[in-house]
Amino acid sequence: MSNNCFTVDFEDWYQGIELPFSDWHKYERRIEKGFYRVLELLNAYNSKATFFTLGWIAETYPHLVKEVADAGHELGSHGYSHEKVYNQTPEEFRHEIRQTKNIIEQLTGKEVTTHRSPFFSITSKSLWALDILAEEGYKIDCSISPIKTWRYGISSCPDSVFRIKENNLIEFPVSRFSFLRKKWAVGGAYFRIFPYSFTLNGMRQRIKNNLPNMFYIHPWEYDPEHPHVKFERKAMLTHYANLKKTYSNTQKLLIPASI
Ligand SMILES: [Zn+2]
Repeated sequence: MSNNCFTVDFEDWYQGIELPFSDWHKYERRIEKGFYRVLELLNAYNSKATFFTLGWIAETYPHLVKEVADAGHELGSHGYSHEKVYNQTPEEFRHEIRQTKNIIEQLTGKEVTTHRSPFFSITSKSLWALDILAEEGYKIDCSISPIKTWRYGISSCPDSVFRIKENNLIEFPVSRFSFLRKKWAVGGAYFRIFPYSFTLNGMRQRIKNNLPNMFYIHPWEYDPEHPHVKFERKAMLTHYANLKKTYSNTQKLLIPASI
């Protein structure tokens, strides 16, 4: 499993969709439900993960961040307010990644060097963010998806991990694989909407090509009972699909030697 890594975007269900920061207080807080399920799975299979944590989550639930660190997992930054990078000014972005790094470091006493932007929102419109990450002390970024969707993506992004010459930052893009002439990703909605074998075969295809796998998931994907609210239809379709399967499919994924 050494070339396969497990990552969690540590946020609550109402943060994983485009609901404004100013409205977050209106929604039922349920992060602990999904969080403990994913932590339990990782512990059961003795797997370590990187938790990309919202600064707001770290500030509001400091005990959860400490539990992540105490269990031996890595903490990275997911920004503070879950705003897409291409909707921010460089100054706003810098402020959020600096603030989140400080909050997490004060809680854990460990340096934060990895980052993933909300909705993989480092795109051709926001490449300036990579220099800012390097300037603020980040060493690894996992924000670029080589699959173009209505929300994100740079289709010319390499499939492997690469170093950006200009700023020395390491980019670990979303893990992409081919199926029926289309490109798909390892994790998130792709993991829930399609059968488990779909992701498994995709990961095997990448291993065959000497490419690492970076699986991604969110705590709310382990909480099928979280509230239904209406928002953009195409986002709703992926957000609520097959949530009941995430837990058992993750069990299969974490069984040693399953990949
Ligand atoms: Zn997120």
